[in-house]
Amino acid sequence: MTPGPRADEGTTLRVAVDRARCCGSGNCVLAVPEVFEQDDADGLVLLRDPAPRAALRERLDRAVDLCPAGAIRVG
Ligand code: SF4
Repeated sequence: MTPGPRADEGTTLRVAVDRARCCGSGNCVLAVPEVFEQDDADGLVLLRDPAPRAALRERLDRAVDLCPAGAIRVG
């Protein structure tokens, strides 16, 4: 028997970043490049995907933990 779809399949998360707090360390980009990137102009975070799929939750939580500026929120 194959496993059925997960309950959270197809659902999305909400991610927000505060560029005013960001210090450009890039930890979030290393953790979840699907969601975060660094601005070529100033090195600060840019949000590629504000509503990523729920399957990225664990890695997004790690990005929150790794951010030295407390600039990432995941809901
Ligand atoms: S980890 Fe935090 S401080 Fe570093 S680039 Fe990402 S949002 Fe900015």
